[in-house]
Amino acid sequence: MAIEKTFLMVKPDGVERQVIGDIVDRFERRGFELKGAKLMVASKELAEKHYAEHAERPFFGELVDFITSGPVFAMVWEGENVIKLARTMMGATKPEDSNPGTIRGDFATTLSHNIIHGSDSLASAEREIGLWFGSELV
Ligand code: ADP
Ligand code: MG
Repeated sequence: MAIEKTFLMVKPDGVERQVIGDIVDRFERRGFELKGAKLMVASKELAEKHYAEHAERPFFGELVDFITSGPVFAMVWEGENVIKLARTMMGATKPEDSNPGTIRGDFATTLSHNIIHGSDSLASAEREIGLWFGSELV
């Protein structure tokens, strides 16, 4: 399995709840390496590009409003199979499917406010790292 990079982001609800440290700790303990991180408020333009795949969904406006509503903690993590393993550590999108022990399963009860984003494929990871951090980190 190749060494990969992925884009992870603590969403505004996670920053507000002060769980950045807990989340960073989980990925460090798993053995992944933090390659970049920044606390920032995303512009509407960046949020719309980030979630472009959902542009036609009825919740798109609400999603963009939420993700720009306060600071997010954007990160790039590196390690073996990190894209897939980080998604497993995050837990499922639907709260009823996210198991205890996962980030969403431990901290979230709602679909819209679910604490963390993680790239879902190699193509998404490359696109999202480029969008948030620029091509030198991809
Ligand atoms: P994931 O974040 O697990 O990759 P998706 O890419 O399907 O999930 O959706 C992106 C984000 O949009 C989700 O994390 C969630 O916050 C929000 N979302 C997804 N589906 C809905 C929905 N039906 N209603 C409101 N928000 C949603
Ligand atoms: Mg997704």
